[in-house]
Amino acid sequence: MRALQFSPDDGFRVAETQSLPLGPDEVRLRVDACGVCGSDRQVVAGESVPQGTAFPLVMGHEIAGTIIETGTGVADWRVGHPVIVHPFIACGDCAPCRHGQSNLCMRQVCVGYQRSGGFSEEVVVPASLLVPRPAACSAAAAALLVDAFATPYRAMKDAGLVVARPGLDGLGGAPGEGRSVGGSPIAYVTGEAVHTDATVLIIGTGGLGLAAQMLCEALGIHHVGVLTRRSLDGAKTASDTEAKNGDASVGSTIASPEIMVSLADGARAVARQIRRWSGAGGIDFVLDTVATADTIAIALEVVRVGGTVAWIGMSEEEARVAVAKTVRRGIRIVASYGSTINDVRELTALVESGGLNPARLLAGTLSLDEATRAFGPDRTSGRWVVCP
Ligand SMILES: [Zn+2]
Ligand SMILES: [Zn+2]
Repeated sequence: MRALQFSPDDGFRVAETQSLPLGPDEVRLRVDACGVCGSDRQVVAGESVPQGTAFPLVMGHEIAGTIIETGTGVADWRVGHPVIVHPFIACGDCAPCRHGQSNLCMRQVCVGYQRSGGFSEEVVVPASLLVPRPAACSAAAAALLVDAFATPYRAMKDAGLVVARPGLDGLGGAPGEGRSVGGSPIAYVTGEAVHTDATVLIIGTGGLGLAAQMLCEALGIHHVGVLTRRSLDGAKTASDTEAKNGDASVGSTIASPEIMVSLADGARAVARQIRRWSGAGGIDFVLDTVATADTIAIALEVVRVGGTVAWIGMSEEEARVAVAKTVRRGIRIVASYGSTINDVRELTALVESGGLNPARLLAGTLSLDEATRAFGPDRTSGRWVVCP
């Protein structure tokens, strides 16, 4: 099979590789689509490499595929099933796992880092990671659910902006369990559990930030502002990239926020513009997909008393926090990482209900031979997807 290998010394190379061995609890997939994540770009840029990663490596952890072989112990899945793959393998035994925080497993293995990933014609994954692919969207769009959408969705839950129905969240659950509750994904959240009247500031317009905007829209949260690091001329939406590359799989525009502010205007001007929009009280929830020292400072400046700041971005920067002021104002600071498989199941239900169209996040699709383009300096908005 052909696979896109990467090593820091030799860069990228499309190679003919050995077929991977198949364990009893695993399935072999034909990879239909695999998204290129910001963390893949960080590895290529030499910025950060997940522990336990060995080179040459076939990256790719946002996989949509079709089952072509099942291990001897796999009963629930059949050859021919279209699926998406939640990429995080949790041990089920460490302290976070035992507390239902499988996304924080201390022995986590991620497909595409600690084992071979989806930038390849075939991949082998544990059957426990599979989620049925929603029929409502293409493989390329569905691939984005497992990480690009699941990460901000998890952060919205961790922040308390979306509250999962007790018992549905966390580790485990039978395949399809999350899909069986009610007809509507809103059934996952009860009463005031989705704070649809909240003011939400999303910081960042990369893949996670755009996905967060779309999730807010899908969940009925309308008072959304966006703070981008780009100049406002350069802050493109998915519709711009559609015009540029003419890819029919790219859908309509990303949800339009009530305000869009550029960090290029300077911190004070930014804070003033955001306060004018939010009113004197301030922002209820800040979702920071950048989380550098400057965005952290702005978030603490504009969040309301008793409001929540959620960090999703993983910058290497250290930040200074005015502790007494933050404590006196009762600000909640939440750090959120990864997602659980139930997050992905809920997103699948959201897509099937028509509430979310993940295709809008696509920057475009690339073949295995073209894939390195996604790692180049062209910072097109949205997510590139490799279709091997
Ligand atoms: Zn990722
Ligand atoms: Zn664990």
